[in-house]
Amino acid sequence: MTAENSFAETDNLLDAMASVVGEANVLTDPGHTADYLVDWTRVYSSSALAVVTPKTTAEVAEIVKLCGSRNIAVVPQGGRTGLCGGGVPVAEHRSVVVSLKRMNAIRSLEPASRTVVAEAGVVLEVLHEAALEHGLVFPLVFGAKGSCTIGGNLSTNAGGSNVVRYGNTRELCLGVEAVMPDGSVINALTGLRKDNTGYDLKDLLIGAEGTLGIITAAVFKLFPAPIVRTTAFLSAASLEAALEILNRLQDQTGGGVEAFEYMPQPAVDVICKAFPETRRPLEGAAATGILVEVTSSRPHDAEEMEDGSIRLETEVLELMGDLMEKGLVLDAMLAQSDQQRAGLWKMRESILEAITRSGPSFHLDISLPLAQIAPFVEEMDREVARLGFQPLTVGHLGDGNLHYALSAAEGRDWDQLPLETAKEQAYALLKKLKGSFSAEHGIGQSKLSVMSELKEPSQLTVMHTIKRALDPKNIMNPGKLLPLMLSDNETPRPARH
Ligand code: FAD
Repeated sequence: MTAENSFAETDNLLDAMASVVGEANVLTDPGHTADYLVDWTRVYSSSALAVVTPKTTAEVAEIVKLCGSRNIAVVPQGGRTGLCGGGVPVAEHRSVVVSLKRMNAIRSLEPASRTVVAEAGVVLEVLHEAALEHGLVFPLVFGAKGSCTIGGNLSTNAGGSNVVRYGNTRELCLGVEAVMPDGSVINALTGLRKDNTGYDLKDLLIGAEGTLGIITAAVFKLFPAPIVRTTAFLSAASLEAALEILNRLQDQTGGGVEAFEYMPQPAVDVICKAFPETRRPLEGAAATGILVEVTSSRPHDAEEMEDGSIRLETEVLELMGDLMEKGLVLDAMLAQSDQQRAGLWKMRESILEAITRSGPSFHLDISLPLAQIAPFVEEMDREVARLGFQPLTVGHLGDGNLHYALSAAEGRDWDQLPLETAKEQAYALLKKLKGSFSAEHGIGQSKLSVMSELKEPSQLTVMHTIKRALDPKNIMNPGKLLPLMLSDNETPRPARH
């Protein structure tokens, strides 16, 4: 195609899209599109023919058809908080970014059936507030809740701190509405809890990172809001002890542990350095610090005891005493007010920002069988320290997910450190201990090379087969998730993050 033809074709596409969504919702001015073209990590950025902001599912379908007929790539985008470069275009493909931000209606909320139907662009925190108005919770929670959208949450199968109790996004979703790569719409928003009528297409789209279609709405489960909660910060004797503490707490409270977060001392230190106003949870150092939250929606647990204390809190305190006697807990503090609780969670949720501020780093988002967490951390900490790194680890310990970050040890120059060696060691150890190299953030662009190295080849083949069957022109978010599309002569992109 000549340059002139290409310009004419682009003009024609822009006009056609404007006639679908209105001119004001087709952005091409660099001043207006810049923010949509760079990801949260600021590692990945590219250009696009336009950023389009449709308002309805029918508009999304028309945009996809217009792009498909011209072999233009479509990049679905939510709140742009993804950490793997999945929501921005790649340089190899002429692309249109489809931002779902204007599809932000909560279509219905049914307290009786405890379900909500929300459009893809609804911000996670907005869904929290809507559910709470009915005494219910949508329990997906993590640091980016004020900006990420439920379309992005579904597409990355986001996890967060409450997975130990409620599961990840996949487990919270009962059905989706989506626009497929040919522009057809699937509508599976019945909210049925049982529906064995063939392949579960929602499960194909959840975690697909926009490579198989655009999710436009979803129906989610809601849960009774806790009426009492106990939040504590513990110093556990070891990671093995931490798991025993988790199980004892679960036994004692009937599975009431809502969060069990690993926050060892180096992580607390880096937060306190980046945000000096942070209050240290314990006076002494906690090599194995744990932020734990136990909740209940049972009135019995919220009862006031004779001494004025609340039953759930008393039970947790008694258990802590017992665990201290056994040497499993070394020290503990219980949040005495909502303000103290909020302070503990603010500390936990500011870790990524704190590490980012403290200098260059490399982040692993991994999961392991619970029994293999301690062996992994011990061996990795030892090996990377030997190589000159300072590990900065936090994690959703209750579900086996670690965010293991490598930063330069005191006095070491990041650019001189053998990062590739450290990564190779981490991946080899993960393989040996049967862990996953991507627990909750997905693959995007940043993990393509490790995906091709570590994912079982037969699984990759099935994924490619599905992709080719549903998206034969490879227009849906190309260059993400799947390392190599041999049929499209794509070359693998090197990982930059
Ligand atoms: P985007 O970043 O816009 O997109 C992410 C991917 O989904 C892209 O591939 C995009 O193409 C695709 N996509 C977006 N919308 C759609 C749609 N409607 N249809 C099809 N594809 C779509 N993640 C966790 O899992 N757990 C955490 O604890 C966690 N903590 C975080 C803390 C911070 C401070 C930050 C910045 C991020 C964190 N994340 C975490 C990562 C991120 O917030 C999640 O991945 C989130 O689910 C992304 O949502 P988004 O709307 O921002 O999606």
